[in-house]
Amino acid sequence: MNTTLLTALEGSKRAEAVRSAASILRDGGLVAFPTETVYGLGAASSNQAAVRKIFAAKGRPSGVPLIVHVTDIELASRYVQGVPESASVLARRFWPGPLTLVLPRTAGVSLAITGGGETVAVRAPAHDVALALIGELGEGIAAPSANRYNALPSVRAKHVLDGLGGLIDGVLDAGRCPGGLESTVLDLTTSLPRVLRRGAVTIEQLRELIDVDEAGQGSRAPLTVEGQWLSVVEPSVLAGLVPAAERVGVLVRGDAPAMSPAGATVVVRRMPAGAADYAAELYDTLHKLRDAGCTRVLVEALPGDGSWDAMRDRLFRLATSTVR
Ligand code: AMP
Ligand code: MG
Repeated sequence: MNTTLLTALEGSKRAEAVRSAASILRDGGLVAFPTETVYGLGAASSNQAAVRKIFAAKGRPSGVPLIVHVTDIELASRYVQGVPESASVLARRFWPGPLTLVLPRTAGVSLAITGGGETVAVRAPAHDVALALIGELGEGIAAPSANRYNALPSVRAKHVLDGLGGLIDGVLDAGRCPGGLESTVLDLTTSLPRVLRRGAVTIEQLRELIDVDEAGQGSRAPLTVEGQWLSVVEPSVLAGLVPAAERVGVLVRGDAPAMSPAGATVVVRRMPAGAADYAAELYDTLHKLRDAGCTRVLVEALPGDGSWDAMRDRLFRLATSTVR
């Protein structure tokens, strides 16, 4: 299969690219599209066969559910059984934005989308191109992140093509995604809402509007973790961990430690000091280090305070998965 690159950078070509992408989706194809977090791999949510193709293209187990992307709470109400007050309040404050709400599904939402379950995840992405695409299609777009299962998420069209080129019909290219981190996933089907995945919207922000289950926060990701490709380590031990005869990427927030391990090539990347800017650059930086041939990446441990929770969580997941 040929994967068509549809350029949707600012300008007059954008509307044309969005129309072409919508027409591919209407015909049952798969199109990757930008959101404010990462690129999503979309299918028209009403087309079960198309939705199933997402799992095949990603190599993702069918039990892991997809998010239905909508323009607003009105479109979301097609997919969920009644919109509870909590959902209206949250959507009014955070949509379009990186907050995914899990609610009971309507019969029209296929089990292919929900991973066989009775709930469905919905969110409105804060990205003009994504919103234009959903609007043009006229229905929700079912999408997970546009990367092979257990690979780095894509924040550029190039990353999508590197992982999924030849496996999907098109990529709508709007440049680098601004946000970086995936959305916060909040389950509203339990008596007390529960955070299932930490993300850009923090638990503290949610608590300004609704009660959130303590237990739902899960255990906080540890400050350091040693993984296969990526490890998060204290600055004091960075140098000692760089193996000889390897090309190692090192992500630091402050000054780079003096390192000259015999035989190793060290590629140092200085990351932003703030959590939001750090998140915006993380995936792009990791893609660059991998493309530069780094066989290992060492990340300087992040601060322990709450604003870094989602970031620490994400790094922990990357380190403990088979990502490389
Ligand atoms: P991805 O964007 O690739 O991370 O995939 C979507 C994510 O949304 C999944 O990994 C789930 O964590 C979450 N999700 C989607 N639907 C549901 C649901 N019905 N219940 C709980 N989590 C969900
Ligand atoms: Mg994903």
